Amino acid sequence: MTDSDSLTERTDSSERAPGTGSSAAVPTDVVAIDGPSGAGKSTIARLLAQRLGYAFLDTGAMYRAITWHFLERGIAPSECAGESDLGHTRMQTALVDAELGFEAGNMLLNGRDISAHLRTREVESQVSAVSALSFVRASMGDLQRGVAMQGPVVAEGRDMGSVVFPGARWKVYLDAAPSERARRRCQDFERQGRKVSEVDVLEEIMVRDRLDSTRSDAPLKQAADALYLDTTGLTTAAVIEQLLALVAGSGSDSSGSDTSSPRGEL
Ligand code: C5P
Repeated sequence: MTDSDSLTERTDSSERAPGTGSSAAVPTDVVAIDGPSGAGKSTIARLLAQRLGYAFLDTGAMYRAITWHFLERGIAPSECAGESDLGHTRMQTALVDAELGFEAGNMLLNGRDISAHLRTREVESQVSAVSALSFVRASMGDLQRGVAMQGPVVAEGRDMGSVVFPGARWKVYLDAAPSERARRRCQDFERQGRKVSEVDVLEEIMVRDRLDSTRSDAPLKQAADALYLDTTGLTTAAVIEQLLALVAGSGSDSSGSDTSSPRGEL
């Protein structure tokens, strides 16, 4: 069984948000950050967690790890045609054998560091099919709530504020213009030594966003009570300052901010 406490990166810090300095493990001590691919969620959430001394929970990495696990077992998730498909049964069996953990920022699957496999094109092309499966979502959601029971957490993903932590104390929906999101993803790939065209990346993230926002179980969407933040043209530092202000209790009123706006359905 997966230990929820091993799923996070926890940092020590004397700088804690007002009212959250106790060690009490309550599931509402959560900063829930959602948004589409390439909106900067991982970078922002990791830094924010460091600044607050909270754990950082990268839920996208969890779905990617499970996807990789299925691929390793020779299952092609996007080709499974529903519950009657043998592949569906094989995925249910494989999920039971998957024990996830984070160690020093690395994703472990059954004790093995699989971080290097999570951002391959194969995983990226299959992960939306896996994350649309309700039995996978139910299992990941349980693990994620278990993490929040251990202590304060900054959790990022697609359904943190809308489904997994509806009572989260702070909710943020990070967005950015598609072209900027593609540019950022290309920079990520370049840092990994991979050269990819921005046009191809834009196409891939648009496909993933469409699949993630149209699935029936926990689609990507902004929670009604989330702060909408368009990070296009903003530096990481500027976004972090806005979120620290939100957590400190002075930034939740977005009126007057030209980076925040009401948002319709994706
Ligand atoms: O955030 P990241 O790009 O790593 O997420 C990979 C995929 O995992 C998303 O495209 C989505 O299909 C899935 N995901 C999800 N719910 C989350 C986090 C990620 O469905 N909370």
